[in-house]
Amino acid sequence: MKTGLKERQRNIFVHPASEMPGSQYQVTSIKRHHSLYSLTDSSDAGPEDEAVSAPLHLTPLEKLNTDMCKDEKTIKDLIIGRRVGFYKVRGEIGYGTFSRVKLAFHALTKDKVALKILDKTRLDSQTQRLLSREISSMESLQHPNVLRLYEVLETPSRLHLVLEYAGGGDLHSKICNEGKLSDNTSKITFAQILSAIKFMHNINIIHRDLKAENVLFSSSSCVKVADFGFSTRVTNRNTALDTFCGSPPYAAPELFRDECYLGPLVDVWAMGVLLFFMVTGTMPFRAETIGKLRRCIIEGVYSIPPWVPGPCQRLIRGILKPVPTERCAIDQMLGCDWLLPVEFPWSLAPPEPVNPLQNLLDSECRDMEEEEEEEVRGSLEELGFTTEHLLNNQPKDIRSPVTGVYRILQHRAQKSRGCDSLPVVRGMVRDPKREGLRAYRGLRHTSKLCVLS
Ligand code: ATP
Ligand code: MG
Repeated sequence: MKTGLKERQRNIFVHPASEMPGSQYQVTSIKRHHSLYSLTDSSDAGPEDEAVSAPLHLTPLEKLNTDMCKDEKTIKDLIIGRRVGFYKVRGEIGYGTFSRVKLAFHALTKDKVALKILDKTRLDSQTQRLLSREISSMESLQHPNVLRLYEVLETPSRLHLVLEYAGGGDLHSKICNEGKLSDNTSKITFAQILSAIKFMHNINIIHRDLKAENVLFSSSSCVKVADFGFSTRVTNRNTALDTFCGSPPYAAPELFRDECYLGPLVDVWAMGVLLFFMVTGTMPFRAETIGKLRRCIIEGVYSIPPWVPGPCQRLIRGILKPVPTERCAIDQMLGCDWLLPVEFPWSLAPPEPVNPLQNLLDSECRDMEEEEEEEVRGSLEELGFTTEHLLNNQPKDIRSPVTGVYRILQHRAQKSRGCDSLPVVRGMVRDPKREGLRAYRGLRHTSKLCVLS
């Protein structure tokens, strides 16, 4: 069966064709080439073996490879850009400064993904640097509240980031359309952002572009922090940075004032602006020009409406301090009065310093990971991936199609264990539909609750 697969892959070469508008692939020759996406094993049978070894039953992977090499419609879809690699591309769902974002489906796993598509001809060296940081930050971030990157696909003219699909829109549109969030929804939303930022700061990644537009939702209230285009990895939290990044209304005063700044404290400030926006539906600092906005932020003058609950007001004031080092630390935010009733989604946070309980939990985590790994390998096998495919294609390589499938299946396994469960505000009523959720990584997780009022 393996021999047959390899042969079929030799028949047509699907290769990149930048000169065709909107297309990534072009069929040029009929024999003796490998498909860009052929996942061959090491057997080396020649085309003459085909008739003898033609398989009766194809695995999904074999079928897909065959279609990509032989099926006219599939090849046409590849040429006109309705397919990219293993993904079937659908309509546009968003756009950014340098990108268009489209909905897509993985042809094997059928999972929905978002394709962030960048036109390489429009990327100068500075943007390319930012892009490679975006990829490297996202590659190392696996947290329930950080948008996942599954794979990176490159053609001569375009770069495609294959991302977890966040179908619930973004926080900015949500507030613009529906108004400020209720106190409980603000708590649940802010707790998730906090959990994501704590996680990335713990591994020295600074986001630098936190704003409501970059807070997406995968469901009505499950937060996914997105857009790591300005992110950077520092050697330690005291590393001074000097590039102005982000959006002016969310920029900390030192970004306007000083030459250098500390990354984590700039993210913390942006979280203060975000929190203000969530609970009031307005921005703390507003002005008609950037110059006036700058002055406003440096002077640090803002007023919190009196109806904002006292504990939340205190948190906002603790964060929006003009002197960076006086700002609330993330751990202080976690322990603040306003968030006291919230049980955080600790499950995927990096391990805290070792203590006996931690050891216990860690061994439980290891068991979970092994179970998860087994589940993923089982699904890969069902799709037709062999151990050899995995070895040959280095599953850790973000540019390998095997990694894409692996990461999608791994995320699916984690979600089935409840990794996307929400934080809980005590005193709310359980949602019976979610009662069946198994706690992800055992003791430390709780199931989703719903708000009554
Ligand atoms: P900018 O720098 O201008 O913010 P960008 O080029 O970095 O933009 P993104 O912010 O990542 O692009 O994405 C642009 C828009 O596309 C988002 O505001 C959002 O509406 C949509 N989008 C991006 N990623 C996803 C996703 N994974 N799921 C659903 N929608 C998405
Ligand atoms: Mg954005």
